[in-house]
Amino acid sequence: MKILFCGTAAAEAWPALFCACAACQRARALGGKDVRSRAAYMLDSRVRVDFGPDSNLHHHRYGLAYERLEHLLVTHSHADHWFPMDLQYRRPGFSVVPETPLHVWGNEKVEAAFVAVNGEDWSLYALEFHRIAPWQPIDLGEGLTATPVLAAHDRSEECVNYRLEQAGRVALLGHDTGWYDEPTWEFLSQRPLNLVALDCTYGPRDHRRGHLGCEGVVAARDEFAKRGALAPDAQVIATHFSHNGGWLHEELERFFAPHGILVAYDGLKMPL
Ligand SMILES: [Zn+2]
Ligand SMILES: [Zn+2]
Ligand SMILES: [Zn+2]
Repeated sequence: MKILFCGTAAAEAWPALFCACAACQRARALGGKDVRSRAAYMLDSRVRVDFGPDSNLHHHRYGLAYERLEHLLVTHSHADHWFPMDLQYRRPGFSVVPETPLHVWGNEKVEAAFVAVNGEDWSLYALEFHRIAPWQPIDLGEGLTATPVLAAHDRSEECVNYRLEQAGRVALLGHDTGWYDEPTWEFLSQRPLNLVALDCTYGPRDHRRGHLGCEGVVAARDEFAKRGALAPDAQVIATHFSHNGGWLHEELERFFAPHGILVAYDGLKMPL
């Protein structure tokens, strides 16, 4: 399986909409890896994690074919990860979509946000909704399972990260979380991960509530290692960056390189 990092920014993207800060101005001037869209991932062409307002941009930029999507895993209801408005275009008259439904997996708030915009009949859009439960694996076919683990993010809903497993290889997509609570650390313990993506919203600022920064990513990596949750070949990747952090791609790389941690950018493709 290949994991494509479609977007690697926090909510406002980077350069942020409307923003005149120095970090956004530098990103506009530099372009390339410093231009970041809202966080989401593709697992090959069948499974997507999160569906934010940049989903159509990803579709064009990476030559994706969403008509082939079978599963959409949603982490939480924040608008940068869940933009149900665009799903209305699956209705007849807007798009010609395959009859087999696209399975959407999410929590109560994800469901409510969809219903508020599109109504209660998911089948109108050839969609089938499934409520997730933390720690309960989801069978995505072709030997791939996704297990939602509790994130430490917005306490008003059950935000999750997904632990993905296929053919004995395991990845954790850990964006939109601060320092995990003990049940999550325990769940992940003693089961080695091969790839870990971790939230780095705060950049050089060391906060660990709701999100993480650079120091938090290193500390989380060490915690995984301590708990036997990192395979010897494990690749740790920092992602979900905010312009408010201020460090551009090169500065982030300078910090992370000595720790052996990779800095994600839009379009990064990692084999699992
Ligand atoms: Zn986010
Ligand atoms: Zn800015
Ligand atoms: Zn969020």
